[in-house]
Amino acid sequence: MRKLLVLWWCLSIVSLHVGAQSALDWVSSEVRMGPGVAVVRSLSDFFPELRETPFDTPVFVMGYPRGDSGALCRAAVISGAHANEIAGILAAYWIIERCRVSEGRLIVVPHANASGSSWSLQEAERPRFLALGDRTIRYGARLSNPAQETFPDPTSFVPPEASDSFRPLAGQEARNLNRQYPGTRDGNRTAQTAYALTQMLRAEHVQIALDLHEASLGSSLVWSMIARPEYLDIAALAVLDVEDETGVSFHLENSRDEFAGYSHWEWGKLGISAFLVETPNPAQPTDDPTVDQLSNAVAPMAKRVYVHLCAAKSLLAYAASNLGNAGTLRVEGFPSSIEEVSRWLEETR
Ligand SMILES: [Zn+2]
Repeated sequence: MRKLLVLWWCLSIVSLHVGAQSALDWVSSEVRMGPGVAVVRSLSDFFPELRETPFDTPVFVMGYPRGDSGALCRAAVISGAHANEIAGILAAYWIIERCRVSEGRLIVVPHANASGSSWSLQEAERPRFLALGDRTIRYGARLSNPAQETFPDPTSFVPPEASDSFRPLAGQEARNLNRQYPGTRDGNRTAQTAYALTQMLRAEHVQIALDLHEASLGSSLVWSMIARPEYLDIAALAVLDVEDETGVSFHLENSRDEFAGYSHWEWGKLGISAFLVETPNPAQPTDDPTVDQLSNAVAPMAKRVYVHLCAAKSLLAYAASNLGNAGTLRVEGFPSSIEEVSRWLEETR
């Protein structure tokens, strides 16, 4: 009996350790940094209150790290706001591993909400893991880990810059990073993370920002791109390209006041060409662990990652050319087929 108790205690320590480990450490065990990355920074560089918290997360800078010409375009690809929307995270990993930025600057934040990657709906103190080739990838939760938050959830939640007519959301949405933009300095950790990301976009003078997500199969958001009206024509061009390359027909959604707190609405207010891209995740909304993510018949992982990357390639190119002289951005190394992504997912080294 005593041996069993000792074993249980050891397993508990390991379990807690896995959950609490800093993203600055564990992300490097998941993504193999490629030659296109110039420097790795921390989100806390842009808001020091996050330093040494489970919400700090690595920021990969590709292209020119500093002192570059003001004429070069600055773009960002952000994923993992919802840590269970795994294809967006893997698309960001592809860019970090395989892409090169020969003109302009690209910032990649694969785990925008690192706290969301510390737990899962099935296990409160640790994430689940997906096996891909010879690596394992965290499959986290949609919201920040409640055990890592600074305040308990309120009874209801209103995004920081919502209009007076906004209908309050359930209190747990205070831990939903994609309802907290542009963030607040003195809010809960999720609000501070949103603030830090907005600060990063401002400090880096980012002109184009993509936010990669997934939705459950039955959701109207599946295969959609969402942007403010002023950027919808750019998204429409990208939709045509993605359909040509992948056969997937995206639909466009108009960002509007009721999307207060969402990336595309709030970053767009700052003058950033902001787009949200949604692919389907067949395990959502319950994050059903019995769903085979890799070879699901309706939405296999390679297809979801490939479509995210095709969308990113087109959105970055069209949004950059829309900036005229300020829009010099050249990103190379996107995949040319689903099979190429499939081989990458199954890679062993
Ligand atoms: Zn999402």
